[in-house]
Amino acid sequence: MVKIPLDKAKFRDPLLTAKGEPRAQVALNHLDVLWFNTGTLCNITCTNCYIESSPINDRLAYLTLADVERYLDEIAQSKQRPREIGFTGGEPFMNPAFLSILEAAMERGYPVLVLTNAMRPMRRFDQKLLAIKDRFGDRLKLRISLDDPTPEIHDRERGPGSFAIACDGITFLSDHGFQIAVAGRAEFGGDVTKTRTRFQRLFAECGWRLDADDPAQLVLFPEMDHRLDVPEISDGCWSILNKSPDDMMCASARMVARRRGASQPTVLACTLIVDDPAFDLGPNLVYALGAIRLNHPHCAKFCVLGGASCSTT
Ligand code: SF4
Ligand code: SF4
Repeated sequence: MVKIPLDKAKFRDPLLTAKGEPRAQVALNHLDVLWFNTGTLCNITCTNCYIESSPINDRLAYLTLADVERYLDEIAQSKQRPREIGFTGGEPFMNPAFLSILEAAMERGYPVLVLTNAMRPMRRFDQKLLAIKDRFGDRLKLRISLDDPTPEIHDRERGPGSFAIACDGITFLSDHGFQIAVAGRAEFGGDVTKTRTRFQRLFAECGWRLDADDPAQLVLFPEMDHRLDVPEISDGCWSILNKSPDDMMCASARMVARRRGASQPTVLACTLIVDDPAFDLGPNLVYALGAIRLNHPHCAKFCVLGGASCSTT
């Protein structure tokens, strides 16, 4: 596929596209998932990490237990009770407070979803995770990133040997009856059915309790490269593409994160865009529930055209 660099005239005006059409916007329908970014540090550096996590990238600092409890208190006092609490990073298990944070959310009755690479940071806590599962049962769900069902492609993205380590982690979780899902990559515009068949073969070989045809058990995300050209989304696109603004993650989710050196966390429109001030909605959740203008390449490539959502349903 020919790769065309992003047209610099695009994604400049929050109100209008480069063609002068009204830019699409998404109103929050209801707060279905409240995400916490536990920090951008990760044990590995993946080629296509949308948030550019790595062992040295701490531009989103570790959230503390007090940070998370503050927002759990805020939603307890509001009418917005999310269906689920999500944790993403970086690698959440790198955060020293993560297990306490996890328990704090589940103690308040929330189901939680943890996005992890199931590698060494998680495996340090095998016994503690088993104890948490005994206590909270199916309220804990983990979604493990496996870019591709072959070590060749996965390791090219994530480093030599990482496929085998991640598979080991998934086997541990599956064998012990954890609620799990896998997040893979779908080539932009590629054949999703073939990708699901390839993953199903791996699931069967490994004996994992996963159905690759179930989009909640195998979530496929499009490749993302913000340097490449992508159409802008105008108001008129919804009907042309037969899509609804309500299907976008920002119609049903917000994410809390703490910037390095910041005195307090902030609320972001979604899990995907952490550096653009237009998607930073300030420290209070109650004031972060307004409409979002889709003025970023990720909005088009990942959500509207890629059809992805970070939710499990
Ligand atoms: S494991 Fe996930 S968070 Fe870490 S670098 Fe890879 S894609 Fe990014
Ligand atoms: S990237 Fe997707 S979820 Fe995030 S603001 Fe854009 S459309 Fe909404």
